[in-house]
Amino acid sequence: MFDGVISGTIRTVQLELLADGATLERVFTGTIWGEGPVWIPHIRSVRWSDIPNDRILDFDAVTGRTRVHREGVEFTNGRTIDLEGHVVQCSHGRRSVERELNGVPHTLIGHFGEHRLNSPNDVVVASDGSIWFTDPPYGIFDAREGHPGNMEYGGCFVFRLAPGGELTAVITDRDRPNGLAFSPDERILYVSDTAEGDGDIHAYDVDVNAGTATNGRRFASPRPGIADGFRVDVGGRVWTSAADAVHVYSPDGNELLQITVPETIANVCFGGDDGRDLYITASTSLYRIRTATTQAKRPAR
Ligand code: MG
Repeated sequence: MFDGVISGTIRTVQLELLADGATLERVFTGTIWGEGPVWIPHIRSVRWSDIPNDRILDFDAVTGRTRVHREGVEFTNGRTIDLEGHVVQCSHGRRSVERELNGVPHTLIGHFGEHRLNSPNDVVVASDGSIWFTDPPYGIFDAREGHPGNMEYGGCFVFRLAPGGELTAVITDRDRPNGLAFSPDERILYVSDTAEGDGDIHAYDVDVNAGTATNGRRFASPRPGIADGFRVDVGGRVWTSAADAVHVYSPDGNELLQITVPETIANVCFGGDDGRDLYITASTSLYRIRTATTQAKRPAR
């Protein structure tokens, strides 16, 4: 059940981004490190990962109850919904990206050439069905988040998995690529870099069909802390986690809003029947706040 409204500070220069009288609610508590939220419309639930507990949780927005979806899941992390409405998610333990069908994960990709991936962290699906994901090494460097192992291909890339199954390294100049999301027109890919000394969101001009990314540049530097997971809304604004706050940036990189949460947060997603609830995965809890916007839709094809 709901814990109810908790105190959070909202600092804003654009209050119309939140619903009138919006307050921060804690809707579940009991995780060690919550990550990878996505709204699943047909079950009206937020699904997310409790990585160190190696389980996946579903928060039912109708009943307000949370149940364990699956346990022993090989340390899933970020997830999204593909063009057919299926959940696509990252698994640190299997070092792969997988699609869940009828509750069963099916590996989509686990290798780059003959080398295993590191530990895919976050994932998005473009309008052509290609799957774009980041591959930092947290699941092979931290035993709480996966299985210790080596970086086999010698980098931490952003990959594109084509609908036909071909894997391309699209971005190779980041140290620890982590969160990622497209602009509403899919011409820009935003990528956070959680490397020490970075912590920023970087923007790249992309050609989704060709699988290219060029002109990488710094987009935003949320502080304190570092940017991890984020989402882009229909207005092209970036809603990102960083330490104990959600920061919202305009498409030209100006900070519009800050929502302080009482603990470290890792990721966000939009959800609810009208898509206007922002769900925030923090270390121990899932939070929600009512906004005046929704997540960007994929461009029509
Ligand atoms: Mg992440």
